[in-house]
Amino acid sequence: MAVITRILLLFLVLCLAGSAIEARAEKKVKVIASFSILGDMVGNVGGDRVEVTTLVGPNGDAHVYQPTPAAAKAVGGANLVVVNGLGFEGWMDRLIQTSGYKGPIVVASRGIKPREMTTEEAEEHEQGAKHEHKIDPHAWQNLSNGLIYVENIAKGLSSADPDGAAIYKANTDAYEAKLADLDRWVKAEFAGIPKPKRRMITSHDALGYFGAAYGITILSSMGVSTESEPSAGGIARLIKQIRQEKITAVFIENVTDPRLMEQVAKESGVKLGGELYSDALSKQDESAPTYIKMFENNATKIIAAMRQGP
Ligand SMILES: [Zn+2]
Repeated sequence: MAVITRILLLFLVLCLAGSAIEARAEKKVKVIASFSILGDMVGNVGGDRVEVTTLVGPNGDAHVYQPTPAAAKAVGGANLVVVNGLGFEGWMDRLIQTSGYKGPIVVASRGIKPREMTTEEAEEHEQGAKHEHKIDPHAWQNLSNGLIYVENIAKGLSSADPDGAAIYKANTDAYEAKLADLDRWVKAEFAGIPKPKRRMITSHDALGYFGAAYGITILSSMGVSTESEPSAGGIARLIKQIRQEKITAVFIENVTDPRLMEQVAKESGVKLGGELYSDALSKQDESAPTYIKMFENNATKIIAAMRQGP
């Protein structure tokens, strides 16, 4: 009996030791993503092997983000940091410095063709933020650029965790196929809308790459200053412009105050085309919790508004 008990005990000890080793082998690659869209991409490429921490979460505005001590701690303990680049995360260098992080940094936008913002766009876009960027940072708003982002992330993950390279490759291939399909669909849909109807105004000039990729003229919202509460004259000029340019819909964005565009829609009699997601994903239970769903949401709403036009 005693021998059997001892054998059983030994067996139990071996089992426990075995699972401890397994747990160590399954330790996840800790990745910091600067904002929600990158966080989703990293999750798609990394799957179960990665643990993603997103600094600027759903509906958050990365332009005005202020890193917290908790963020510095998370960055300090990471294996990989993924940023957009193109001047989007003006706060990142200091955060990296504060955190003591010395590991690799993936600049997801590396290799894309940067789009220059007009001065007007840059001024309107900044919304009072201290830094100034002439290069439009919102490159993810073109799915072809999204594919480049995913490639850069996959490369970064594979060199940080070579054992997972085959898994990252398989995940990347599957994800890229979905993005490419979506890109073809969006291009075909917009191509079916007459060019004069492919015009829109947004409150925050974040869709420049989107417009360039899909043949849409994005008009700058003249007369609307960067102040949080635009003047009555500014709103009147915007309404006049909407009528003159025969704009058929205006949109609100998840990272900007919706009240301006709601008022403009009401006063101009133009339809409110719904909510677009530019710089952040939505929460899980809203309409754009992933990069793919964000793109589908935006394209579907813009297409519907342009089709309904006069
Ligand atoms: Zn932005």
